[in-house]
Amino acid sequence: MGTPAAPGALADPGAPPAPDGVSVVLFTSDLRLHDNPVLTAALRSAPRVVPLFVVDPGIAAAGFAVPNRAAFLADCLAALDEGMRARGGALVVRRGDVVAETCRVAAGTGAGEVHVAAGVSGYALRREERLRSALTADGRRLRVHDAVVTAVPPGAVLPAGKDHYAVFTPYFRRWSAEALRPVLPPPRAVLLPEVRTGPLPAASSLARGAASPALPRGGEAEGRRRLAAWRRGGLARYAERHDDLAGDATSRLSPYLHFGCLSPVELAAGARERAGGGCAGAEAFVRQLAWRDFHHQMLAARPDAAHRDYRTQGDRWREAPDEFDAWRAGRTGYPVVDAAMRQLAHEGWMHNRARLIAASFLAKTLYLGWRAGARHFLDLLVDGDVADNQLNWQWVAGTGSDTRPHRVLNPLAQADRFDPDGAYVRRWVPELAGVPGRAVHRPWLLPDRERARCGYPGPVVGLEEALERFKRARGRA
Ligand code: FAD
Repeated sequence: MGTPAAPGALADPGAPPAPDGVSVVLFTSDLRLHDNPVLTAALRSAPRVVPLFVVDPGIAAAGFAVPNRAAFLADCLAALDEGMRARGGALVVRRGDVVAETCRVAAGTGAGEVHVAAGVSGYALRREERLRSALTADGRRLRVHDAVVTAVPPGAVLPAGKDHYAVFTPYFRRWSAEALRPVLPPPRAVLLPEVRTGPLPAASSLARGAASPALPRGGEAEGRRRLAAWRRGGLARYAERHDDLAGDATSRLSPYLHFGCLSPVELAAGARERAGGGCAGAEAFVRQLAWRDFHHQMLAARPDAAHRDYRTQGDRWREAPDEFDAWRAGRTGYPVVDAAMRQLAHEGWMHNRARLIAASFLAKTLYLGWRAGARHFLDLLVDGDVADNQLNWQWVAGTGSDTRPHRVLNPLAQADRFDPDGAYVRRWVPELAGVPGRAVHRPWLLPDRERARCGYPGPVVGLEEALERFKRARGRA
């Protein structure tokens, strides 16, 4: 228990006071103190607040609790608890069904309101509905806050007569003209009611299995440190360098955005300001943040796009377990694809250009269908996100929002262009570390003896044959 919230700073004359003086903040994808409208609104409406996180075994049962994100989440929760304690509070942790546990904590502390961020996935929307009806039945209120998980809320910009944008460019035009809400300061104090806090979960209790060896550390403080470094360093040259595979010149902020350690509003506002000052890097970065919102608004309007083709092409995907295994293991014989898949296994993260190449190879070159590929990415990505992952996969497969759905990325042309010296491949495919320059992208051209010494596999399929197969499948032969 600590000092009460600073008076005045948090008073909002517009918000009705919670009659009993306690509110619950249910943390979900917003694990931060800075610029968090959910936390700010709860502190404004009641002098005492329960910052709650519920570890719901339902997530594990649905296959979404995977070691990489579990490790990152454990860091995030520890950081959130530390931030709360520095302000006189603490994170309250419960384990069980999120709705039942939230209602129990609200009842136990006499809270009148529960505050939560608006989500976009089918799971989040169902949770919101269940929470609303359970709390209402108990005489309590659910308050749902927008512009927490995305910079511009889904539905805030709409094409005439439609419930979402299906094409990025017109969306981006409207998104760019949309004012962002003001960035909120972190609270100075958080005062808890009488409540048992519960132990913070260890990563091993959140998911079974070993995490990737080179995962980033999670948490708000780490995210803010990286954001500050990014603003001082890489951002200015992002426009010309973001596609350079070996240069690794993107922000790597995606896991912090996924878990809400960083606020998309704060990032977008800062980048828009720099872009307004003529920074081309910031302009390109803003565009990527808009892609994130774009996919969220698509999923919010079409939750089933997580599983079903958004725009079906009548595909009858092949089944070839050996080829799928070769792709997953990074042994397709196409070095740039294999480098990408090995980076994913080692770091739980992959460069965006590498994601495009690896996904296109599975969905179009091997024609094995996007769902299994997306599942594998979700099993490993530390930023694995239903909206961004599934809809990017659908974009690549041509079943999503790409306006040229039948284009096929040639992995060799991509490698020559985005890894011109072959440094990315040599970093991730040690068998080929001794092959100089861009020759590394075509190991089948090496002299027989050298090839045998490398022990690197031959190509799983010929590119021309694969392209013909894909064109036939899509009725374009
Ligand atoms: P930066 O280049 O620094 O971009 C800044 C931020 O913009 C990112 O952190 C991300 O939040 C957002 N962003 C950038 N590109 C995209 C995009 N194409 N779509 C949506 N948001 C974008 N991103 C995820 O966050 N989670 C995923 O599960 C995910 N799966 C993907 C699967 C495939 C097949 C593809 C092609 C892309 C996927 N992306 C996903 C998008 C993108 O690859 C990552 O966001 C990006 O590589 C993260 O690295 P970064 O933070 O350095 O990005």
